[in-house]
Amino acid sequence: MTNPIEIKFVADVMLGRLSKWLRVMGCDTHYQPFYRSEIIDMSIREGRLLLTRNRRMTEKYHPSLLIETDNVRTQLQEILKKGYLTLDSSRWFTRCLVCNIPLKKIPIEESKAQIPDYIFNQNKPDIYLCPSCGRYFWPGSHKTRMMKQLSEWNLFNTD
Ligand SMILES: [Zn+2]
Repeated sequence: MTNPIEIKFVADVMLGRLSKWLRVMGCDTHYQPFYRSEIIDMSIREGRLLLTRNRRMTEKYHPSLLIETDNVRTQLQEILKKGYLTLDSSRWFTRCLVCNIPLKKIPIEESKAQIPDYIFNQNKPDIYLCPSCGRYFWPGSHKTRMMKQLSEWNLFNTD
């Protein structure tokens, strides 16, 4: 089986929340709230695994994985159990949650001009930029909250 680190996903319209959490965990996850079928075809040709709540879609598209539940924690566990997810916490928060693009570390001086001083001073070794949307990211309360959530879901790195 492919190393789970290299697995890329395309998630169907029902799986917006799951997609966000896969991105939090560093997984390359294409998601749109609406798809023309060409987009799914193209994503699969790019080597993505289709995640879907729709059994008929799993008959039509390969490779694909039927997600059996609506609960995001259970959904992540399903993917983990099939061997398509790693719990490598060093990959968490390395991807833009909006664009699905890997974040870039930028020179400290460059970020200083772009964000408020107090945030810069508290976070300067850990400020990242999304090259697609231009958003800056730093460890903040939302990150702490998400890590706590992943830990409560037993999705912390067990190495
Ligand atoms: Zn972005």
